[in-house]
Amino acid sequence: MAEIQRRKTPTVKIGHVRVGWEVPVVVQSMTNTDTADVKSTIEQVAALALAGSELVRVTVNNEEAAAAVPHIVEGLDKRGLRVPIVGDFHYNGHILLKKYPATAQALAKYRINPGNVSIGRKDDDNFRTMVECAVENHKPVRIGVNWGSLDQALLTRMMDENSKRPNPMPARDVMIEAMIASALNSAQAAEHYGLGHDMIILSAKVSGVRDLIDVYTKLAERCDYALHLGLTEAGMGAKGLIASTAGLAPLLLAGIGDTIRVSLTPKPGGDRTEEVQAAQQILQSLSIRSFMPQVTSCPGCGRTTSTYFQELAEQIQSYLRTQMPEWRKQYPGVEELKLAVMGCVVNGPGESKHANLGISLPGTFEDPVAPVYVDGKLKTTLRGDNIVAEFKQILDNYVVSHYGKDRELVGTR
Ligand code: SF4
Repeated sequence: MAEIQRRKTPTVKIGHVRVGWEVPVVVQSMTNTDTADVKSTIEQVAALALAGSELVRVTVNNEEAAAAVPHIVEGLDKRGLRVPIVGDFHYNGHILLKKYPATAQALAKYRINPGNVSIGRKDDDNFRTMVECAVENHKPVRIGVNWGSLDQALLTRMMDENSKRPNPMPARDVMIEAMIASALNSAQAAEHYGLGHDMIILSAKVSGVRDLIDVYTKLAERCDYALHLGLTEAGMGAKGLIASTAGLAPLLLAGIGDTIRVSLTPKPGGDRTEEVQAAQQILQSLSIRSFMPQVTSCPGCGRTTSTYFQELAEQIQSYLRTQMPEWRKQYPGVEELKLAVMGCVVNGPGESKHANLGISLPGTFEDPVAPVYVDGKLKTTLRGDNIVAEFKQILDNYVVSHYGKDRELVGTR
């Protein structure tokens, strides 16, 4: 497999987390609680962090939210959770950061949207105030341009200039150029106001997959800042997952992107950590980072008339998810484990042999037995009503013997 050549960037320190080409791509997420609700926000940040989010962003949209931030950071500290908290500011960040110095200090990074920081103003004093706060507090900044809140004065000017050209560009291309210009001009201004080059991350999020690929490809060519990737407003369910993957994968494979977020719309009352799992799965599917043992399972077909193998695949997947927080600590490298759960003998034995552990269940009309393969070799054949429990036991033994402290000793038994 060809190695991905990451684009070289400065390394940005966000609390204890580093973002940039020297370190693996960082997964991040954002809460959807009311930040002023300290208890709920701590709970959700904790859930996101335990799911694997390495940075968590919270909205800081009003005075109550700003006042809550130090308590949230303190509450997380008390729980022993070391996850840098990023403040998301729009419209009033210059006021809140000045009025709440403890918040300016407690946050690990500020996100500034240049499209709405100085709305209705001719100068960039509000932007400057936020950058100066970042400089005083030694905090990095993400300059996050967004398609939906692009600097309208800049866009109008660029549209006007374009219309006067002998061969005007399509409006979409001008929008993309305006996003890039907004990000780069703001970064240049931030450096002018004293922020270090290695204290800046850029993002230019759009909601269309092809637009995303174009805007980031061009942005990556024109600067060396670390880049935060994400398809904004990706949507719900399969649409959000697929569109995010389609947008992020070509960029990541081209070495573009130092931190990612998958912006899924959860179902009402849905699990916010799904966006973390999605981001991890994108990176793992591209063999960029490993987070979880991977289960290969076939889609099933007319050869499997029962749901038995679907249930087994689901049970193994949720068993892994439950075990991983502990396994990750006790069994380093277990995230590389590969399992196969297959519905019948057609591809079952072959696919199982490519996995560390594989089980091939009986299809319709096959003998009611389930051969289990360990590292490509037939280890045993399970039968009867206890197949799931016995397979989990084989899985547990494999994890202990191959990833535990005494692995060499156990492995030779
Ligand atoms: S492995 Fe068997 S059950 Fe699964 S899709 Fe292939 S033929 Fe169908």
